[in-house]
Amino acid sequence: MKILILENSRLFQKMLQDLLVELKCSVSCVRTGEEGLDLLVNATDDTRYDLIIASQHIFDKSGQKFIDYCKNSEYNTPIILLTSEPNETLMRNARSAGIKDVFPKTNLTYLKSSIRYYIQGENDFDTIKGRRVLYVEDSAAVAHIVSNYLRKLDLEITHFATAEEAFNTFIDGEFDLVITDVMLEGTMDGLSLVRMIRAHNSHLNKTPILAMTGHDDSQLRIDLFHAGINDYVTKPPLEEELATRVKNLITNKRLADQVREQQRKLFNIAMTDKLTTCHNRHSLAEYAPKYIKDSLRYKYPLSVLILDLDNFKQINDEFGHTTGDMVLADVGKLLMGTCRQGDIVARIGGEEFLIMLPHCAISNAMIKAENIRSMIELAKPSGLNVTASIGVASLNDKHGDDFDRLYKSADNAVYLSKENGRNQVTADAESIEESELQHAQS
Ligand code: GH3
Ligand code: MG
Ligand code: MG
Ligand code: MG
Repeated sequence: MKILILENSRLFQKMLQDLLVELKCSVSCVRTGEEGLDLLVNATDDTRYDLIIASQHIFDKSGQKFIDYCKNSEYNTPIILLTSEPNETLMRNARSAGIKDVFPKTNLTYLKSSIRYYIQGENDFDTIKGRRVLYVEDSAAVAHIVSNYLRKLDLEITHFATAEEAFNTFIDGEFDLVITDVMLEGTMDGLSLVRMIRAHNSHLNKTPILAMTGHDDSQLRIDLFHAGINDYVTKPPLEEELATRVKNLITNKRLADQVREQQRKLFNIAMTDKLTTCHNRHSLAEYAPKYIKDSLRYKYPLSVLILDLDNFKQINDEFGHTTGDMVLADVGKLLMGTCRQGDIVARIGGEEFLIMLPHCAISNAMIKAENIRSMIELAKPSGLNVTASIGVASLNDKHGDDFDRLYKSADNAVYLSKENGRNQVTADAESIEESELQHAQS
C-alpha cells in the first residue's frame, strides 16, 4: 500500500513513517498542501497513492486546494485526518470535505492501533482478489451495477437470473461468497436458495451468503437470518458498504478455511506413524469401532490381519537400527500398496502391523495374507531377507462389537504362526468355524 503523509511536525512524521513501514506500506512525506498536491498531480497509475494521512493544518489555504484535488481526481484517494483537538465542528467539516476518517493525535497508542486496524482492513481487499462470487439477481439493471462494483474489487463473478440455475452451479463449484437477491423470477426465491445451500450435504453449506433486497421488510430480514444468511444489504447498495461487507464475509471465510485446513493437517499428523506413514495406534483406536459398527449394521464381513516381522531384533543387531527403520518403512509402503481404498493399514507396535479389511470374509483374507507374506519374502527390503508371521481373524458373533476381542483372535493366530516356525499365515479357528457354519446354513 502506498501512503502519502502530510504532516508538519517532524516527530509525528517519523512516528507515522515507522508505523507504516512496519505495516509493509511504502511512504512519502510532505509538510504542506502545496508539496502534496505536486506529488499527486504528477502521480501515474503506478505511483498513485492508496491513502493520504494528513494533519489538521490541511484545512489551511494550500490544504483546501489539496482536498479539492483529491475529491475531484479520478483516483478519489481516501484521506484520514489527524487532529490534536477533536471537536464536533471539525468532525462535521471533515465529513463534508469528504474526509474518510478523523483520528485524534492526543493518544498515541489509540492513534497507532486505529491506523493499524485501518491499513489491515484495506490490505484485506488485496487478499480477496480473484475470489469467486456467485451472484443471483433477476434485474439486469441492478446486476449490471453490482457486477461492476464487484469487478472493481477484482472478484470473479458468476451471475445468474434464477436461483435454480445458480444452485446447480453452486454445488459444482467452490465459491467464496453467494450474493442473492430475494425476490427472483422462477420457482425459487432467494430465501429458498439460502435454505437449499444450508441444507446441502457437504462443506459447501458453510459458504457465506449476503442477501440483497429492495423491500426492507423486518420480518423478511429475520426469516433470512433464521434461514442462515450471514449479512444483509438493501438495494441499491452503496458501493463502499457493499465492498466492505463483501470483504468481511470473504475474509472470514478464508480464516475459517485456514483453521479447517490446519485442523486437518494436525489430525493427519496425530493419526500417522511418522516412520512408515501408515495409520498409528490412535488412528486405529478411532476407526476400528466405526468399522465394526458398519460391518454389523450393513451386514458385510470384516477381517483383520496382524503381521509381526520375524526375528527383527536380529536385523537390528546385525545391520543397525537405521537399516531396521528402513526395512520397516519399506514394509509399510508395501502393505499400503497392496490394500484397497477403505482398508486400514496401521503400525501398532515396533515391527507389528494390523490391516483392517472391510467387505472381506475369512477365506479372502487368508488369500490376501498369503499374498502379503510371499511379497515380503520376495521384496528383500534393504537387500535383506525379511519374513513375517501373520494371523487372520474375521468378525463373528463371539466378538460382539468389541474390537479388542477381534484383535485378540488375530493376535492368537500370529502366536501360532510363530510357534509353528514363522513366515506363515494362520487363521483364527473360530473365525473359520463360524464361516463354515454360515455356508452350511445358506
Ligand atoms: P519374533 O520373530 O518372535 O517376532 O522376533 P523379533 O525379534 O521380531 O521380536 P522381538 O519382540 O523380540 O523384538 C522386536 C524387535 O523390533 C526389537 C526392537 O529392537 C525392534 N524394533 C521395535 N521398534 C523398532 C523401530 O522403530 N525401529 C527399529 N529399527 N527396530 C525396532
Ligand atoms: Mg428480483
Ligand atoms: Mg513383535
Ligand atoms: Mg517380531
